[in-house]
Amino acid sequence: MTSNAIELRGVRKTYAGRRGETPKEALKGIDLSIPQGSIFGLLGPNGAGKSTLINIMAGLVTKTAGSVTIWGFDQDVNPRQSRASIGVMPQELNLDPYFTPRGALDVQAGLYGVPRSQRRSDEILAMVGLEDKAEAYARTLSGGMRRRLLLAKALVHHPHILVLDEPTAGVDIELRQMLWDNVRKLNQQGMTIILTTHYLEEAEQMCDEIAIINHGEMVVRDRTENLLSTIDAKTLLIQTDSQVPDVLPLPEGARLDRRPDGALAIGYSRARTSPDDILKALRDANIRIEDVATEQADLEDVFLDLTRARPAA
Ligand code: ADP
Ligand code: MG
Repeated sequence: MTSNAIELRGVRKTYAGRRGETPKEALKGIDLSIPQGSIFGLLGPNGAGKSTLINIMAGLVTKTAGSVTIWGFDQDVNPRQSRASIGVMPQELNLDPYFTPRGALDVQAGLYGVPRSQRRSDEILAMVGLEDKAEAYARTLSGGMRRRLLLAKALVHHPHILVLDEPTAGVDIELRQMLWDNVRKLNQQGMTIILTTHYLEEAEQMCDEIAIINHGEMVVRDRTENLLSTIDAKTLLIQTDSQVPDVLPLPEGARLDRRPDGALAIGYSRARTSPDDILKALRDANIRIEDVATEQADLEDVFLDLTRARPAA
C-alpha cells in the first residue's frame, strides 16, 4: 500500500433538495492525499463542506462521484475494511440518552465486530476521564462529558485514522486541553489524525499540514509553516500616549485603524512594506512608541488572501 492514510480523487457530493428546493452541490471535485502519521487540519468557513467530506471518508454519507481510499482500501471495493480503518468524533452530540458510557461503547464495539477479548472499554473511558461515569445514563452527562464519550466511541475499534469534526467548538479550556493532550498522545502512538476547526491558531499549533476548503472546493493545501508564511496580511499593534493625527504618512501598503483601547492597529501587506518602515514612519511623525505587538491574521483574512491570490476558475 502507499504511505497515504487517505486518498480522495474527484470527490463530489450533491445533496438532493427537499421538495421545492434546488439540489445543493456541497463538494465540487476534491482531490486530497493525507499522509500516514500526520495531524492534518481541514479548515473552512461554515457551510464549506468539511463535515460532508469527513462523513464521506467515514462511509456515513454517500458520495455522488469520485473515489475514496482509506488505509489502502477503496471504499467501493472493500467497504468493511475501509470503515474499520477510520473512527469519527462527529460534530453533533448524537448520543442515545438511555445508554451508559460503558453500554454505548459495547454497542459500538458490537457494530464494528470487535471481539469481547479485544475490547478495552475501561482503558478508553479512563483516557477520556469518564471512568467515574461509566454507569451513568448519557442523558445525565454534561455537554463536555458527552463530547468525551463521542471521542471514546470513535476509538472503540482501534482505528488507524481518527477524525474529529470541530471538536473544540464551544468547549471550555479544560476540555480543549484534554482533547489536544489525547490527540497528541494518540498521534505519538502512530494514529493519523484529521481534524476540522474554525480556529487558525489551533490548526497552527496542532497540525503538520492544512487544507482549506471553501464552497466545496479546495482553496489551498500545504505544510502549516508554508501556508502561514504565504499569508500576506499582518497587523502591527502600537501603544502610544502621543497625540495621533487623523492622517498619518504611512508607507504604501499600510492602513491605520484605532482600537477601542486607544491602540493603533496598522494593517499591512508583507509583500509591500515592513514593520521597520512603519515604525520609522511613526517616529518621523513624532509618535512615541510605548509598546509594539504583532497580531495574527484571522481565518477570514486568510480566506480573502488566498481566494484573491487564486481566483476561482
Ligand atoms: P461545514 O461542515 O464545512 O460547515 P457541511 O458539510 O455541513 O459544511 O455543509 C456543506 C453544504 O451542504 C452546506 O451548504 C449545507 O447546508 C449543505 N448540507 C449539508 N448537509 C446537508 C443535507 N443533509 N441535506 C442538504 N444539504 C446539506
Ligand atoms: Mg461541519
